[in-house]
Amino acid sequence: MSSQRQTIYFISGANRGIGLGFVQALAKRADTLIYAGVRDPSKDDELKKLNSQTKNIHIIKLESISESDAKAAAEKIEKTSGYIDVVIANAGILNYQGPIVTTPIKEIRDHYEVNVAGPLILFQALYPLLSKSKSGAPKFVVISSAVGSIGELLPALTAAYGASKAAVNYVTKKIHQEHEKDGLIAFPIHPGLVQTDMGNPFAKTIGLDEAPVTIEASVQGQLKVIDEATREKTSGRFWDFQGKELPW
Ligand code: NDP
Repeated sequence: MSSQRQTIYFISGANRGIGLGFVQALAKRADTLIYAGVRDPSKDDELKKLNSQTKNIHIIKLESISESDAKAAAEKIEKTSGYIDVVIANAGILNYQGPIVTTPIKEIRDHYEVNVAGPLILFQALYPLLSKSKSGAPKFVVISSAVGSIGELLPALTAAYGASKAAVNYVTKKIHQEHEKDGLIAFPIHPGLVQTDMGNPFAKTIGLDEAPVTIEASVQGQLKVIDEATREKTSGRFWDFQGKELPW
């Protein structure tokens, strides 16, 4: 058994898509413990099956918009581990596409709630645990989207989703700015157009048969950016999964 200190990750939306891909990749690493945030822990057979082999996954209840879930998760982690090194705020929705002139305001609110308030709720609850990381460089990473770039506005019908990702980019940069003194590394990352329940239907709306990037390639690329991230070079900037910087 190794005496290495464990690297502890928290990943939201961990039951499918990119979030599950992160858990699958990280679970293979030595001295790693993963808190996998999911809406309904009783349903997560895939994670349970994986954990029966790797024994380094804790499934934890997290509805993104619930402050009490985030607080309860933090209390549980405080008791079992006492710190977190890396948070990946991955859970998100793309539930509506259509012209801005008829986009229901409910969709604007719903996307804002899950995609903007969700990551911020998670940050507020887990920040005390990130501050106890002894890695010297705790990380708060938000899975954003190139669709949220205002500098390179894509011509997709994504007012509700895009506005929420632009807003979460701001929130993430604010976290970077206000936590400079703690040495926290915070940045948003675009995972590519990925073969998931979200990415494949979106790809069809822009004329592709399917999303071009596999979950494995997206996750490997993002983990390289996350592993190598520094306060000086990476934090407070917008990246993609291939390590390319994107315009805000
Ligand atoms: P999926 O739709 O495949 O998975 C979404 C995940 O988020 C699921 O685990 C889902 O849980 C969870 N989730 C959604 N809403 C909530 C909520 N209210 N509370 C808790 N969990 C929630 O999406 P992807 O894996 O493709 O996307 C992951 C992230 O990557 C998202 O933030 C997305 O915006 C971003 N992204 C994805 C791209 C792509 O091409 N796939 C491109 C750009 C960005 P449940 O199963 O319970 O619904």
